Amino acid sequence: MTARFIATAEQIRRYRATVAALLVVLSVAFWPSLLLPLARQYVEFNFHHPGATPFIPNYPPYVVAAILFWMSPMLLLALGLVLRQLIGQYRLDRGAVTHRSQGGNAWRALADETGIGRRLIVVNDPMPFAFCAGFFFPAVYVSDGLLALLRPAEIEAVLRHEASHMRRRDPLRLFLIELLRSTFAPFPIIETLSERVRLGIELAADRAALAIVPMPDLASALVKVVRATSRTHPLTVAGLTPNEARIDALLGKPIEMPYRRRDLVVTSLVVITLFGVLAHLSSLQLCPICPTI
Ligand SMILES: [Zn+2]
Repeated sequence: MTARFIATAEQIRRYRATVAALLVVLSVAFWPSLLLPLARQYVEFNFHHPGATPFIPNYPPYVVAAILFWMSPMLLLALGLVLRQLIGQYRLDRGAVTHRSQGGNAWRALADETGIGRRLIVVNDPMPFAFCAGFFFPAVYVSDGLLALLRPAEIEAVLRHEASHMRRRDPLRLFLIELLRSTFAPFPIIETLSERVRLGIELAADRAALAIVPMPDLASALVKVVRATSRTHPLTVAGLTPNEARIDALLGKPIEMPYRRRDLVVTSLVVITLFGVLAHLSSLQLCPICPTI
């Protein structure tokens, strides 16, 4: 029963942006007058500033208005995500200063050896976690809880994994993927693609670690962290999380992340509807409001 409830909740979450976008697109198709203020602005701008829009000359005004109408929430969302990320990074930096663990120096030699160096920040927190954050100067954050949970060989495996994220600037890449996933949420196939890319980034960091540390140390570190965090967040174990897939990969099992046929069908439906509505809008004339000389 719980599994079915989680599956239904996941379906609703997965397609809610699609449903919202389709409703907006169909509303615009049935009531193009919703776009009239924007379309009018575009026509008037072209009239008063001929040549000012060399890349967007006199296109069908309703189509231009529809594209602007579509892009504005996307831009707002992107701006919100950038802001949230900046605030999160600021809080993380402040928290790292106030919650810095006294035991951090014990790991200085290993931090230098893995290439993390001074950018290893040990946080005084009983929850076991390790992650890499920061766009331009990424740092590795490790908790006391993780250091207490793992053996030294496992800690080295985790640090080598995070060092790879740091070297490759993965936080920035992951953020750009998240940006793409959120702004193109009405196309569900983008979610599957972003899951694949995210998993690819994790597997690449695992491979970098495995070039130096033995597989059993990285695998047991992952299993311990997944078990410890799943106790506190039971919902994270639902579905194929990157950690479960990583453990499968380490154990040599094939990773299966098939494209869901429903996602492909829904994405095609959205694209066809979008082009259909744009074609319909391009046939509409704006002459009743064309500026007169
Ligand atoms: Zn990772």
